[in-house]
Amino acid sequence: MAPKTDIEIARTAEKRPIQEIGAKLGIPPEALLPYGHDKAKVTAEFIAGLEDRPEGRLILVTAINPTPAGEGKTTTTVGLGDGLARLGHKTAICIREASLGPCFGMKGGAAGGGYAQIVPMEDMNLHFTGDFHAITAAHNLLAAMIDNHIYWGNALGIDQRRVTWRRVMDMNDRALRDIVCSLGGPSNGYPRETGFDITVASEVMAILCLATDLADLQRRLGEIIIGYTRDRTPVHARELKADGAMTVLLRDAIQPNLVQTLEHTPAFVHGGPFANIAHGCNSVIATRTALRLADYVVTEAGFGADLGAEKFMNIKCRKAGLAPAAVVVVATVKALKMNGGVAKDDLKAENVAAVRAGCANLGRHIENVRSFGVPTVVAINHFAGDTEAEIAAVQDYVRGQGTEAILCRHWAEGGAGIEPLARKVVALAETDHHSFAPLYPDEMGLFHKIETIARRIYRADHVVADQKIRDQLTAWEEAGYGHLPVCMAKTQYSFSTDPELIGAPEGFDVPVREVRLAAGAGFVVAICGRIMTMPGLPPEPAAHSIGLNAEGQIEGLF
Ligand code: ADP
Ligand code: MG
Repeated sequence: MAPKTDIEIARTAEKRPIQEIGAKLGIPPEALLPYGHDKAKVTAEFIAGLEDRPEGRLILVTAINPTPAGEGKTTTTVGLGDGLARLGHKTAICIREASLGPCFGMKGGAAGGGYAQIVPMEDMNLHFTGDFHAITAAHNLLAAMIDNHIYWGNALGIDQRRVTWRRVMDMNDRALRDIVCSLGGPSNGYPRETGFDITVASEVMAILCLATDLADLQRRLGEIIIGYTRDRTPVHARELKADGAMTVLLRDAIQPNLVQTLEHTPAFVHGGPFANIAHGCNSVIATRTALRLADYVVTEAGFGADLGAEKFMNIKCRKAGLAPAAVVVVATVKALKMNGGVAKDDLKAENVAAVRAGCANLGRHIENVRSFGVPTVVAINHFAGDTEAEIAAVQDYVRGQGTEAILCRHWAEGGAGIEPLARKVVALAETDHHSFAPLYPDEMGLFHKIETIARRIYRADHVVADQKIRDQLTAWEEAGYGHLPVCMAKTQYSFSTDPELIGAPEGFDVPVREVRLAAGAGFVVAICGRIMTMPGLPPEPAAHSIGLNAEGQIEGLF
C-alpha cells in the first residue's frame, strides 16, 4: 500500500477544541478569538499583559543548502515540538503561514508533513485567518493612494518614474511582473511602468513580522519609502497619510494565530516573509508570546543556514533581543548526496562516497552556526530509501566535527520518532551558554556588513560592487540608516551566488547587483544574483491536481 499522503493523514487528526490547546499554555478562553473550532487569534490585550513574564528557551531549526524538494525543516520543527512535549516540557511551535503561490505551484504547503504536521492543514495552506489578504489589502491601499496623490495634483512632487512601491497579490503570476498602469485616458491618471510582487515579498509583511505592537507597526508603516521626488528626496508613506488606514487593515492580522499539531502541541503560525528579500521567519510577536508562555519554543528559519539562520540571528534576534539556546541543523542523506555531486535522477542508489563528499556542506553550516556562540546538533531527517551505511557516514563525519547527528523518524512516527533529538536539545539548552552574539555590530558600515557576511558565512574572497552601489550605501549612512542590519538576497542552493556551486565552494566572489532600503522593516537588502519577487508557475503546477472530492473534501494539497 502506498504511504498516506500528508492531507490524508491530516484528515484523520482528532483535533482538540482550540480552547483546550490554549489552556496548555495558560491562555484563558476570553484571550482567544476563535476562527471556527480549531483556530484562534490570541488577543493583543492578553499579549500586552505578559510583558514581565520570564522567557523560555528558543530552539532554531535550520538546514544545509537545500535541494529543490525542501529538506523537511518545517516537518522537523513540528516533530521536535511534539517530541519535547512528549518528554513533558511545556512546548510551543512557531512557524510561518503559507503563501498561495507555492501551494498551487511547485513547493506545496507549509504545515510540515507525514506524522509531523500542523492542523487544520487545509486552512493553514489556504486562506487561514485572512492575514495575508489583510497584508495584500494594506499594501495595495498604499499603492492606490500613491497614484491617487499624483492624479489630484501631486503636491509632494513624486517623480512618477521613481515610484518604487509596486502592487502585490498572493499568487505566482509572472504575467504581472512588469505592467503599465493608468492606461485608458486622462480620467485614469498618468500611465507609468510598475508591476506586482507576491504578497510574501511585500515590505508590509516584513514589517508585520518585526513590529512589537500596533504603535510600532504604525510607526514602521509610516517610514516606508514609496519613491523619490525629481531631486531624489525620499517620499514616505506617512507623507501620504497612509499609515493610519494601513494599520486599521492590519489590526487583526497582527494578533498571532494559535493552532495545534497532530499530537495537540500548541503552534503559533504567524506571518510569512520571503527568505530572499526579507528575513524569512515568523513574527516577533508570536515568538515573544510563545516564549512567555512555554518552557521550550521551536521555530524555523527559511532556506539553508547561510541565509535563514544568518538572518534569524543578525536581523530577528538582534532587533527583538532574542537569543537561541540551541540550533538544530537538518540534513537528509538525499541532499547530502546532491551536495556531493549526485544528479537528481541518481539519488536512489546507495552512494556513501557522495554522502561523505556532501558532508563538507554540512560541516560549514555547523561551523557557521557555532560562530554565533550557540550549541548545535544535527538532525538526520530519515527518508525511506536511506541506507545504514549512508546514515553511519553522516554520523561519523559529524562526530568528527565535535557534535552529534541524530537519526529522526518523526515524518513516519510523529513525536515518538524524534525523542532522542528532543533529549539532546534539552541537554544542550540547559548547559550554560550566554555567549550568543550577532556577527557584526550595528555601528559597522553597510558595505563592511555585507563583506563580513560574505567572508565569514559564505567564505567568499571578495564582494564586488559598482561605485554606484557603494555611493548609495554611503548616502544611506549619511541619511541615518547606517545602523541597520543587512538582509542578503541570493540563491539558497549554494554558499555562493551560483546555484550550481554546491558543496563547500571556495575561491569565488559575491557580486552585489543592487541594494534596496526597507526603511519600515529596518534593513538594507543586498541583492546578489538573480532573485525573484514574483515567482511563476511550473509546467505542471500543483493546481492541476487540487480539487474537491465527492464528499466535498479538498484533495491534492501537500
Ligand atoms: P522545508 O520546510 O525544508 O521546506 P518541509 O518540512 O515543508 O520542508 O517538507 C517538504 C516536503 O517533504 C513535505 O511535503 C514533506 O511531507 C516531505 N517530507 C519531509 N520529510 C520527509 C521524510 N522524512 N520522508 C518523506 N517525505 C518527507
Ligand atoms: Mg518550511
